[in-house]
Amino acid sequence: MTQLTCQSCQSTYPLTAPVWKCDCGGLLDLYFTPVFDRVKIESRPPTMWRYREAIPLDSAAPIVSFDEGFTPLTAVDIGGRSVWVKQDHLFPTGSYKDRGAAVLISQAQVLGLTTVVEDSSGNAGCAIAAYCAKAEIDCHIYVPANTSPGKLAQIQLYGARLNKIPGSREDTANAVWQAAQTNYYASHSWNPFFFQGTKTFAFEVCEQLGWTAPDTIILPVGNGTLLLGVALGFTELLVAGIIAKMPKIIAVQAEHCAPLYYAAQERLSTLPTIEPKETLAEGIAITTPVRGRQIIEAVQASGGHFTTVSEAEIKQALIAMSQQGYYIEPTSAATIAGIYNYVVSSAPDETIVSVFTGHGLKATEKLLKVAG
Ligand SMILES: *Cc1c(COP(=O)(O)O)cnc(C)c1O
Ligand SMILES: [Zn+2]
Repeated sequence: MTQLTCQSCQSTYPLTAPVWKCDCGGLLDLYFTPVFDRVKIESRPPTMWRYREAIPLDSAAPIVSFDEGFTPLTAVDIGGRSVWVKQDHLFPTGSYKDRGAAVLISQAQVLGLTTVVEDSSGNAGCAIAAYCAKAEIDCHIYVPANTSPGKLAQIQLYGARLNKIPGSREDTANAVWQAAQTNYYASHSWNPFFFQGTKTFAFEVCEQLGWTAPDTIILPVGNGTLLLGVALGFTELLVAGIIAKMPKIIAVQAEHCAPLYYAAQERLSTLPTIEPKETLAEGIAITTPVRGRQIIEAVQASGGHFTTVSEAEIKQALIAMSQQGYYIEPTSAATIAGIYNYVVSSAPDETIVSVFTGHGLKATEKLLKVAG
């Protein structure tokens, strides 16, 4: 049955309830049986909405869309190996977060909401703000005061109310938490509808590889909004009998902020308190991911593992990609650095998939430093 289920107390809620967490405070997951009709799917325009019957929005509901998705899956030379890289930096707002925002804000429209709140260190705020502009929903974005100016301009120009919070990322999270007590929290980490969008990454990869799963998929992880969506998407394809096995998920963190890597390595039952250092990969510098346990379980269930990359490796990967003509955010280069390390010991015939998560034009100040 299609419903929202609490991870802690197993309470359930119908999709018509405007909830983003359980009354007990627990995280909600959305259970749903998707339908994949390959003939129908292949006859549709190349957007993420070709999998419409696999996305749990009321089938009569209009969607909020810029015709996004079905990004190119391109063979890129990484360390002498050909790796399939999904060009998700080419989304309308410049990052894959549009996948989640498209579904989440479509659901907000179904619920008839007039206001949402969200906090972000950048790209999720840009995505939620753009889809709210399209849906004419009033949108309040909370960001740390030191968020990069390009992303602030983007959020503001989309017409969102911008709340700059002094202090740490944690202080921003506390500020939005207050606002979320009386508003719908369009959160990329809490709200289960966001993952119903990011899961389309898995569907597209599967179709683009001739309806098969790759052997290995290498992804960034901070809050795990792409990783959990991808794990969900491949699980749904497996259950539907479209693919025969799960790909192994390799999850990349920046060495300077790697709580999930340490928790998995040390087999900790709770996330460690870490002292993060500054990193080029600001987009995945998350010290306490709310779905941490779920992320570790998804990676381990796939037969994969966590790995870390140094600042020097991130910088090298960024330069190497630029010199092949791919202009990506420094955060996206962390994942690519993880691929350089991984391919050293990978099997020669292994099919490897990865992603460019965000566009370089978002991070001009940081990239000027790297260029200089
Ligand atoms: C959001 C984001 C990621 C992944 O971050 P999660 O916290 O795991 O969701 C990676 N790269 C970029 C550019 C992003 O915006
Ligand atoms: Zn609960």
